[in-house]
Amino acid sequence: MRIPAAIFVFLLLASSVFFVQQYFSGRQVLVTSDPAYAVSSAQEHLNVLLVFGVLAAFFFALFIYTALTSRESAKHLAYFLSRDISASKEQFRKFYDLSPVPYVLIDPQGVIERPNKASLRFFGMTEEELRGKNLFSYLQLPDHPERLSLYKERLSRHIPVEQGEILVTKANGVTRWALLSIEDLSTPGDGKHQGLATVVDIHDQKELERIKTEFLSLASHQLRAPLANLKWYMDFLLTRRAESLSGDVLTYINKMYRRNEDMIDLVNTLLNLSRIEMGRVKVDTEHVDLTPLIRGVTEELESAAKDKEITVQTTMSDAFPFETDGKLVRIIIQNLLSNAIRYTPKGGHAEVTLTNNNGQGALIEVVDSGIGIPPEEQDRIFSKLYRASNAKAMEVNGNGIGLYMCKALAESLGGSIEFVSIAGKGTTFRLKLPG
Ligand code: ADP
Repeated sequence: MRIPAAIFVFLLLASSVFFVQQYFSGRQVLVTSDPAYAVSSAQEHLNVLLVFGVLAAFFFALFIYTALTSRESAKHLAYFLSRDISASKEQFRKFYDLSPVPYVLIDPQGVIERPNKASLRFFGMTEEELRGKNLFSYLQLPDHPERLSLYKERLSRHIPVEQGEILVTKANGVTRWALLSIEDLSTPGDGKHQGLATVVDIHDQKELERIKTEFLSLASHQLRAPLANLKWYMDFLLTRRAESLSGDVLTYINKMYRRNEDMIDLVNTLLNLSRIEMGRVKVDTEHVDLTPLIRGVTEELESAAKDKEITVQTTMSDAFPFETDGKLVRIIIQNLLSNAIRYTPKGGHAEVTLTNNNGQGALIEVVDSGIGIPPEEQDRIFSKLYRASNAKAMEVNGNGIGLYMCKALAESLGGSIEFVSIAGKGTTFRLKLPG
């Protein structure tokens, strides 16, 4: 469009010059009133008019030509664009169809609009059989049916579903574990609402995990009995035969007793872990007083604290009656306080406080003046087997199971566990239990 605009400016200037020149020439004719001069002047005007006419025709033609050619090139551009778009659409369709990951395009209610080839293989159906069926009619979660309803609701509200474990029933009636994700594919403006569901088969991994967990549970059970026997024999020697044993022997038996206690703790931890993994944590809600329960734990860990010259303080009311599973709460507090002592250098202090969480249940805080948790590692601290770098450097003994277990137990009690920590200064763990 720049050329026609320039031409118009030029024409405007030329015509202005022309008319100004005509005006002065006309005045000249009037002033001289010489007929010969008037004729030659008229001739001159005609010539100028002719040149001007030719120039105007030329630029007019140029203007028409430019307009026509730019329309033509726009047409070409549109053609190439639509060709590229359909080529990339075709590429995307192939990628979707041939991807080894099972994908299904679904509507807001879960009705399957377009399954890809991998999903047909996964379900063991043809496209005609699967199209038009509701995806959720093939999914189940016997232990958590509420999660399935939540996934449906998220789909209808355009909220993605991220990697939920789910059982899928195939055409032959066989069920397999899969990871379900749903992404919202709605395009704003056109009112079309679609979801892209991904169903990844994880059945073999789940099966391996189950076998491993069952083995862990069996092995821990088998180890419990001999360890309990050893404890009983050593207890007997230390309490009933102490006078007949030499000082050296007594020292060794005491050491053996403590090591045996560590093994019993570890076996109990593994047993609890296997229960959590198998979803077999039993919650027995009973009437408990949390004050003596916490005091019991601090007394149990007194000698460990004394060894490191750590003072352990408790801030609680005289009684705190509460409805919860006392055994599970005890395991959590035992883990948190033993960690507080373990990750606090000699001469430090730890504190356990119990309050009613502003009337919303119970809040148990375990505070220490220890090594803290490095900020870049804090988001992994509840992961199974994870140990922070500073903890590994300070204390070689540890398995990274305690906090993972505490979190799972707190959640099975309907509560939560969180922490704040400053590396080098200390950590506060907060266990909240619903009232
Ligand atoms: P473990 O203590 O056997 O290593 P846990 O699961 O109990 O395993 O704890 C996981 C990790 O969390 C620890 O290795 C340590 O890095 C960190 N941690 C837990 N409690 C504390 C604490 N009170 N102070 C500093 N770090 C802690």
